[in-house]
Amino acid sequence: MNQKFYDELKKILPENCIQLSEPMERHTTFRVGGPADYFLTPGTGEEIQRIVACCKEQGVPYYIVGNGSNLLVSDAGYRGAVIQIYKSMNRITVNGSCITAQAGALLSGIAASALENGLTGFEFAAGIPGTLGGACVMNAGAYGGEMKDVLKQVSVMSLDGEVFTIPAKELEMGYRTSVIAKKDYIVLEAVIELSVGDVREIKAQMDDLKERRISKQPLEFPSAGSTFKRPEGYFAGKLIQDSGLRGFQVGGAQISEKHCGFVINKDHATAADIAELMRQVSEKVNKEFGVVLEPEVKRLGEF
Ligand SMILES: Cc1cc2nc3c(=O)[nH]c(=O)nc-3n(C[C@H](O)[C@H](O)[C@H](O)COP(=O)(O)OP(=O)(O)OC[C@H]3O[C@@H](n4cnc5c(N)ncnc54)[C@H](O)[C@@H]3O)c2cc1C
Repeated sequence: MNQKFYDELKKILPENCIQLSEPMERHTTFRVGGPADYFLTPGTGEEIQRIVACCKEQGVPYYIVGNGSNLLVSDAGYRGAVIQIYKSMNRITVNGSCITAQAGALLSGIAASALENGLTGFEFAAGIPGTLGGACVMNAGAYGGEMKDVLKQVSVMSLDGEVFTIPAKELEMGYRTSVIAKKDYIVLEAVIELSVGDVREIKAQMDDLKERRISKQPLEFPSAGSTFKRPEGYFAGKLIQDSGLRGFQVGGAQISEKHCGFVINKDHATAADIAELMRQVSEKVNKEFGVVLEPEVKRLGEF
């Protein structure tokens, strides 16, 4: 442990917000990943600012995580500080047809607020198991909707610690990307603009999408959702299926038999199993169809 760094962290955060050697399998939906040297759970933008400044001063690498639902952490873990923006920063407030939420709020929580207040436009996101921060970075989307359609503005912190607000038209949101990802900004808060709708219709739409997820996706196993991005003109799951890889397994990691776009942690998989499975699948699909599959899942640590 870097004692000086630890002492500095204690000046910024209460001790219960600093974990040492924290297993990342507890913080990722794949349920894999070794220890992060420091696992920090700040509750304010100012604390994040001070942690980042401290990491820079002490030469300690840092990485932001939300709910870890799009993240593969190596078995050896991470030699640096993981800054989790989740439960300690998840306030949601509704004002007319706008919802302002902190980066750590879950999309499901925001969708519940939208429903409660008869606001439509966020139904698509109700079943995506990530935080608002992760969803803004990734421009998360499903069933024809994307974060891009509903974001009014996003408050971020730059690498220099400067906090500012980006209006929707400057977010440069594309398929699973945004200016936030390109510039390594940290999302602190966002305003979502919805429309007034009919509560029963909103509920029916959310229930329908939930049903579709339950019937099509292997939600009974740990995963990170769609493992590969959708290649232009194709569907990753279909390419994988047509390559004869349904149920293909490396160690405890498997191409889901229910949905070939999902790699699942079938039975005590390691991160190495998942990474190797992804490599072999990409290779086979490329050989069969000449299409390069790009991972959608982010990686942290050494592979
Ligand atoms: C069962 C299942 C179904 C899924 N379905 C969908 C789907 O339909 N559509 C879809 O788009 N995704 C889906 N996903 C993937 C995932 O939920 C989304 O990508 C989600 O937006 C990730 O949010 P997170 O908080 O978990 O981010 P994490 O996995 O914690 O992080 C993802 C990336 O965002 C960065 N990040 C996280 N928070 C912040 C922040 N506050 N500031 C800056 N950077 C940040 C991280 O550094 C990392 O690069 C699914 C995942 C699962 C497990």
